[in-house]
Amino acid sequence: MTGTCSRRDALKAFLLLGAVSVAELPEARADTADHLSPTEATAAALGYHENAKTVDAKQFATYQPGQLCSNCLQLQGTPGQPWRPCNLFPGKLVSADGWCKVWVKKA
Ligand code: SF4
Repeated sequence: MTGTCSRRDALKAFLLLGAVSVAELPEARADTADHLSPTEATAAALGYHENAKTVDAKQFATYQPGQLCSNCLQLQGTPGQPWRPCNLFPGKLVSADGWCKVWVKKA
């Protein structure tokens, strides 16, 4: 049976390639490396919080309950996603439940 490729051989090769491909998937995509950290200089300067519920209204006088990244004019990306791009922080994702000092109501 030399020179032929049976269905069984093709299936074995397909499964082997699939196993290799899955094994080589970068784990980095599943982590939070692209999430904006509140401690990054610009984020800290703008009072970015990952969860707006933790904003101290005494420290951030412009904050009003209900203001969230998800209803800010600057938020981009797909509605419903928990982490999305923001015009102010290129290359990073902000929490849809977050907030910062330059929140502007989405029209
Ligand atoms: Fe969130 Fe808007 Fe501030 Fe961006 S500009 S971090 S979307 S509140």
